[in-house]
Amino acid sequence: MFKGISHIGIAVKNLDASLELFKKIFELDKVHFEEVPEQKVRVASFVVGNVTIELTTPVSDDSPISRFLEKRGEGIHHIAFEVEGIENHLEICRNNGVSLINEHPVDGAHDMRIAFLHPKSTNGVLIELCEHK
Ligand code: ZN
Repeated sequence: MFKGISHIGIAVKNLDASLELFKKIFELDKVHFEEVPEQKVRVASFVVGNVTIELTTPVSDDSPISRFLEKRGEGIHHIAFEVEGIENHLEICRNNGVSLINEHPVDGAHDMRIAFLHPKSTNGVLIELCEHK
């Protein structure tokens, strides 16, 4: 079951500089910081209305975000959908010919299990499925 959009991921080169601007335009007073070793990224997330935005920056040159920034530059990186039964949803994707970046869920930010679908299968959009542990 799909529960809705969990968050929108934005790839940035300089987290502090980007956050400084986003804080002003969205009048933020609460920002959550987290490092996700699995993805080799540092994340600053905040809520705007009912949408969570995740600014994501690489902490290592071999982070997937490093490769994204090199190839496409800064910008929207992925859209994450919260689901119930992530393994089941991955199975449905597999059965429909979708390439999976993560065959099985891995640890993500916010204590969630996450898996990415390959954007070549989904019209160039990187989709993340996530489920609370
Ligand atoms: Zn995400």
